Amino acid sequence: MNRVWNFEIDSIKYVFDGNNIIIKKENNIKNIENADETIFIDKKGLRTLALNVINDCNLKCDYCFANFGYYKDGKTVMKFEIAKKAVDLLLNSAIENGNKEITIAFFGGEPLLNFDLIKKVVDYAEKTKSDNLEIKYLITTNGTLFDLEKIKFMKKYKFQITLSIDGGKELHNSNRKFINGKGSFEVIQNNFELLLKSFVVNARITINNKNYNILKSIKELKNLGFRRFTFAPDYNLSQENFEKYLESLSSLFEYYYNLILKKEYIDITNITRVLMNILFRIKKINHCNAGLTYFSVATNGNIYRCPRFTDEKDFLLGNINNLEIKDINYHIKKLRKNIINYHMNSLTHKCNKCPFLFLCGGACYHYSYINNKTEFDVVERECTEKTLIYEETIKLITKLNVEQRKDFILSLKTIWKNTKLL
Ligand code: SF4
Ligand code: SF4
Repeated sequence: MNRVWNFEIDSIKYVFDGNNIIIKKENNIKNIENADETIFIDKKGLRTLALNVINDCNLKCDYCFANFGYYKDGKTVMKFEIAKKAVDLLLNSAIENGNKEITIAFFGGEPLLNFDLIKKVVDYAEKTKSDNLEIKYLITTNGTLFDLEKIKFMKKYKFQITLSIDGGKELHNSNRKFINGKGSFEVIQNNFELLLKSFVVNARITINNKNYNILKSIKELKNLGFRRFTFAPDYNLSQENFEKYLESLSSLFEYYYNLILKKEYIDITNITRVLMNILFRIKKINHCNAGLTYFSVATNGNIYRCPRFTDEKDFLLGNINNLEIKDINYHIKKLRKNIINYHMNSLTHKCNKCPFLFLCGGACYHYSYINNKTEFDVVERECTEKTLIYEETIKLITKLNVEQRKDFILSLKTIWKNTKLL
């Protein structure tokens, strides 16, 4: 099947064949038909567990997808016995699959409300793991609860920190407020200034109805010292604001290109992941690793594909008290088969005909489920946004010469050193 996208820059015609950017000459279609169709789905089994260490939060952000940290079942706290079993499952999976690296991601609610458990989990994992196994630790936090003790601890274990922050003071405070309605920016500013001295903090921006200009957010956060950014639209973004967001996303590419020309390198992960996949010929047909290498454990031990599915009964895979590696492997196999069927074999599925399939891997299962009550149906809005990112990233690469690409990649490697994205 020919999945191709034709485009033109400075009167030169190009074609993207799903994996390569080719300068188009008359009938240069042979090249495309010969494109290698080997696909990549990670087969190394469970490697990352997200632990929902607490379903509670000290903020009340207007757009919170997790019902202010409570999900569907209200305030709950993970006990060590549950967390310990989760770590054991992960360690056993590493042995079974011969993996040399695993990841524990701390999630909530606000995970730092249960810092004692985080310390116990890290302590247990470090004492129990074999010498040749490396454990990476990730945390997604609202940034309000740091102190020197926590920072020292996270430095010791090289935590990768994702901080939810939407922009400068005004943008951030318009949504991210304490329960009493006061904005959280001033509190987190003291903390991120300290954190940025020791960590490459990933600034995680939620595009929402009060903050839909991604270019503005990133500029403001860059001025505050951040160098790494990830963004995602809130499900409730209005159509009007979604369109404004797309406009700002296009402008972001122009801004990014000019920064690269000035050798002022930052990592906008929504773009750099795609860029790396193109330049290093990495093909994928799954949108994310949820349900393949990545699973989440709720406070009560229930296991889901990812934290967004917490308390969704249709997506409950089992409980940590009675789930074994073979059960996880069964789910992985089933999902892998479904992905291949929908994205590669189905004649009616939109992704199957898409030139960007190998960069994209289709829809987010959760977004699809919320909108369509199915896991694999593409939500048009997500597809529109992604298509814009793929087209603009391909154009960006095409505009850079070999030296510029090389310098940019080397700079990203420095930013990426010791870091991992889910
Ligand atoms: S979700 Fe959209 S952009 Fe992604 S592969 Fe499917 S059709 Fe293509
Ligand atoms: S992309 Fe969707 S399915 Fe994948 S981890 Fe994120 S929310 Fe979950």
